[in-house]
Amino acid sequence: MSSKQTIQIWDIEVEVTRKRVKNLNIRIYPSAGRVAMSIPRRCSLRTAELFAKKKYKWIKKHLNKRDSTDRQKVHKSRFISGETHNIWGTQMPMRVELIEEKPGVILSEEEILLHTRPGSSREKRESVLNEWYRSELKKRIPVLIKKWEKPMGVNVNEFGVKRMKTRWGTCNIRAKRIWLNLELAKRDPACLEYVVVHEMVHLLERLHSKRFYRLMDHFLPDWRERDLLLKGKRLTC
Ligand SMILES: [Zn+2]
Repeated sequence: MSSKQTIQIWDIEVEVTRKRVKNLNIRIYPSAGRVAMSIPRRCSLRTAELFAKKKYKWIKKHLNKRDSTDRQKVHKSRFISGETHNIWGTQMPMRVELIEEKPGVILSEEEILLHTRPGSSREKRESVLNEWYRSELKKRIPVLIKKWEKPMGVNVNEFGVKRMKTRWGTCNIRAKRIWLNLELAKRDPACLEYVVVHEMVHLLERLHSKRFYRLMDHFLPDWRERDLLLKGKRLTC
């Protein structure tokens, strides 16, 4: 059996439950805005209160996580005029034109112009932009593969572009096929070349061994700078 009581720590309400526990524990549920505390059966409310007061800053910080995720949701791209989106390492203003034509994107010096049909959903506009990113990558990747095949002495049979959550590229050594992350279209072109060369080096060395990095140093001596450029900077869109 447990009994629930509430204590007030300045502006925060904490639900206290006596349980068969050895220590005092605080749990925060940011999405519900709830703070729950379990305390040993013999522990007094006064002790619980002192404990929670000591943890006030920490509780507050974790409770506020809810606000920041909500803010992120609001700030999530809606693919409408006035937003900025990245292409090849440059942040560009985006303009959306609603027209009864084949949807697509036109890039100029000043802007990314997205054509979409009136009433198109956010998802539709996003997919129009992503298809354009894909086509941009598909223009550049074969040029890079061709550039590197000869000096590296390898052949790439096939390549593809897809959305990946955790990797910039992958290589299927047996099929000699490489996959590249769609996000690369948003980054500096030097990053795309770095990932292409990395995946192609896997055709010579499967593992990230010393030999692998020796080959990277040999073919692309500045790969570390490119790696920083790729991973050190977080771009938002
Ligand atoms: Zn690798």
